[in-house]
Amino acid sequence: MFEKILIANRGEIALRVLRACKEMGIKTVAVHSQVDADLKHVRLADESVCIGPNPSPESYLNIPRIISAMEITDSVAVHPGYGFLAENADFAEQIQKSGFTFIGPDADVIRLMGDKVSAIEAMRKAGVPTVPGSNGPLPDDNEKCLQFGRDIGYPVIIKAAAGGGGRGMRVVHTESALLNSIRITKSEALAGFGDDTVYMEKFLTNPRHVEIQVISDGQGNAVHLGDRDCSLQRRHQKVLEEAPAPGIDEAARKEVFDSCVQACVEIGYRGAGTFEFLYEDGRFYFIEMNTRIQVEHPVTEMITGIDLIKEQIRVCAGEKLSITQDDVNFRGHAFECRINAEDPKTFMPCPGKVSTYHAPGGLGVRVDSHLYSGYTVPPNYDSMIAKVITHAETREEALLRMRSALEELVVDGIRTNIPLQKELVRDQGFAQGGVNIHYLEKKLGLQ
Ligand code: ADP
Repeated sequence: MFEKILIANRGEIALRVLRACKEMGIKTVAVHSQVDADLKHVRLADESVCIGPNPSPESYLNIPRIISAMEITDSVAVHPGYGFLAENADFAEQIQKSGFTFIGPDADVIRLMGDKVSAIEAMRKAGVPTVPGSNGPLPDDNEKCLQFGRDIGYPVIIKAAAGGGGRGMRVVHTESALLNSIRITKSEALAGFGDDTVYMEKFLTNPRHVEIQVISDGQGNAVHLGDRDCSLQRRHQKVLEEAPAPGIDEAARKEVFDSCVQACVEIGYRGAGTFEFLYEDGRFYFIEMNTRIQVEHPVTEMITGIDLIKEQIRVCAGEKLSITQDDVNFRGHAFECRINAEDPKTFMPCPGKVSTYHAPGGLGVRVDSHLYSGYTVPPNYDSMIAKVITHAETREEALLRMRSALEELVVDGIRTNIPLQKELVRDQGFAQGGVNIHYLEKKLGLQ
């Protein structure tokens, strides 16, 4: 097992990784920007290194500085968390070349999955169901593009192969708008991602976002840990998640679980990963794979009792997966509310000093957060400050537990989205289960 791990992240996920390392007897190194010296995990880590000023490119995204920090602390592996460098193939490669271990899949697997066109191609080969589309980049041939549009049927969506974070996509409703939309998406993709490759997909009108968690050792063993529903989104940002996804067709579910496990084996996947799907009319359509741990991983941990970070560390240390599919038992239902330092109405970030913080507790309540009373939320990074997770035997009980947990939660001194979350867990439509990806924006009057 690794002797010392450097945690190349901040906030709640850095703390989450630190906790797993402590339980495994692994020493930890925290790296941080200047403003982050007071982060909770920095204080709890065995060692810490300030790697630069507050802007991410000068600290959390600065590969040479992170590698230097590994060298001076004798770290042997790096956990990238999510965001920042977690899906950066060059980072994984440089870590490996410097003689360290990247806790995640090989650089070429990150690259394969980071390009949406090659990811879809690899998934199709492995038998994972995908969205009907151009099955490859759109050619520089207007007539051929128009023909794709006719074959797929409108509406279609033009997507950048290198896109991410909800950017680089354009919906097209009529043939007359197609060529112009392709042109604009291409130039935006070039400007935003340095690659103007685009492809076409059928635009599904009312899908749900359902994703499947996998863990794989890159030695031929892979298991799935069930699904999550993350349909409550605003601007493609997830707000409230749950596991399992309610009301999914069992036959379709089993088939897609098997195909994801098969795909992991075929691509030699190592680590924790998520296959993201759109789900409509009882069918799954693959859209992309995330080759890292995700924000919403706790809901899966709650219903399986499996510590995903520990498993991730073990398989990346070269151990075989410690569980088989038969060992994965699903129990009950879990929800996660993301708590952001933002105005509940305008969604503008609201950094500042937290005068009082009080976390909820009790049976089946988990809070993953780096907050403490007196902590100042800096303006430089993501506004998520806490995740409140509840688990119970049934969906209804877990939701009631979340209502009560949110009542207990106190974050004073800054504005947060707690009022919005309180409203969502009382929403009748959501309580019934199975709302689609437009539900939240419609409720907020944004659509
Ligand atoms: P990103 O990498 O930017 O997150 P995704 O490919 O995961 O992009 O898509 C993000 C979101 O865009 C999806 O969760 C969904 O809301 C919407 N979307 C993407 N593809 C389609 C599609 N074919 N039909 C309908 N909505 C889509």
